[in-house]
Amino acid sequence: MGGEMEAHGGSRAARELLAAAAEGRALMLLEDASHRADVVFARVNPGRWTKDGAQKPPVYVILIDFADFQHVIGDEAARAAFNEGWAVLHEIAHVVHDSADAEEGANEPGACETLINRMRRECGLAERAEYFFDLFPGQERTAFTTRLVRLAFDLQTPQLKKKRYWLMWDANLVGGIEASKQIAAR
Ligand SMILES: [Zn+2]
Repeated sequence: MGGEMEAHGGSRAARELLAAAAEGRALMLLEDASHRADVVFARVNPGRWTKDGAQKPPVYVILIDFADFQHVIGDEAARAAFNEGWAVLHEIAHVVHDSADAEEGANEPGACETLINRMRRECGLAERAEYFFDLFPGQERTAFTTRLVRLAFDLQTPQLKKKRYWLMWDANLVGGIEASKQIAAR
């Protein structure tokens, strides 16, 4: 703490978020939630002090399901933009800015991921095109026990036009399939 080191490169928005988190009143705990069925990659829950809660700062528990990330396959450019680190930044942004995710059925990244996309852009990485994943085309009616889903990322560079990259995983292993069914049925 207190260092005057100047940062070069990377994401300015990410540095601002982490500085705001460090200076903010809320406490955040990181918890390993690997293999938990109710955690799809990561999420944040309000915590509760067991004693003297009224005198203490608000506390949040950021749950990270590391095992879920092991199931992700797909394009290198998309994988660089979606991992445990980006997930933790996303949950910290929820706490610091009280920002919302996309509404169910909305075809956009949502307020919280829009900030994370700015960080990805500042790092020259692909941006998440939408918040909700979709069933892989053709998966709706298969009898297979796998439920492949996909999530789109777009990379925009001055030289190139927008290029789309994909991530895929088996939602039966990762979870969150109920939400995706609603999206597919929209
Ligand atoms: Zn979120």
